[in-house]
Amino acid sequence: MIKRAFLRSFLLLLTVYALYVPNTAFALSFKADGFAVSTIDNATFNRMKGKTYKDDCTVPLSELRHVKVLYKTIDNKTMHGEIICNKHIADDVAEIFYELYKANYPIERIKLMDDYNADDETAMRDNNTSSFNFRFISHSTKVSKHGLGLAVDLNTLYNPFVLTVNGKLHVEPATALKYVDRSKNFNYKIDENDLAYKLFTKHGFEWGGHWKTRKDYQHFELPDAKVKALYPNNK
Ligand SMILES: [Zn+2]
Repeated sequence: MIKRAFLRSFLLLLTVYALYVPNTAFALSFKADGFAVSTIDNATFNRMKGKTYKDDCTVPLSELRHVKVLYKTIDNKTMHGEIICNKHIADDVAEIFYELYKANYPIERIKLMDDYNADDETAMRDNNTSSFNFRFISHSTKVSKHGLGLAVDLNTLYNPFVLTVNGKLHVEPATALKYVDRSKNFNYKIDENDLAYKLFTKHGFEWGGHWKTRKDYQHFELPDAKVKALYPNNK
């Protein structure tokens, strides 16, 4: 009888803890020095609120992860980076960036999109690497893959988004015109021989450089079928 009462109060305490204790981060599976995957703690959420995590955000915070990574700059400096992405790819992202780090793959910067007020164009001009930024696909209630944290953009200035509409070239960021011609050689260029391309595709991602009607050379995402299986109500 005493045992049962003890157990009951223990369970009650646990429930109270789970309900009222502020969301604190705890480490999840991927482990390496300088790398960590954790849930979003309050301090991080405060940085995201109203920026990448907009007021109309339909993605529960519990679906997102805070991934801490190390990376190498082009002059071989070791830097700390942060990526917010979906829990379903967090371990893959940590592993991919770990492999890139070990291989001295040059990345200019990895900062949260919130540091750019969630403004994509500004972040791309700064050659930032990132994942989560909540948005609906234009004129729909469907959340985009960056909105779900299921896409990653890498070295964005040198690997722009390119689209031709009625013969008119459209480039994002607008400062990336020099990098539209992919037959040229330049730093940070992603192509099929590139290690990031090889690692992302090995982990089941699709590359925007393979798209037909538009090219998004910086962009790796989970394929539609996988996203549909994870979020069947996202229509
Ligand atoms: Zn993208």
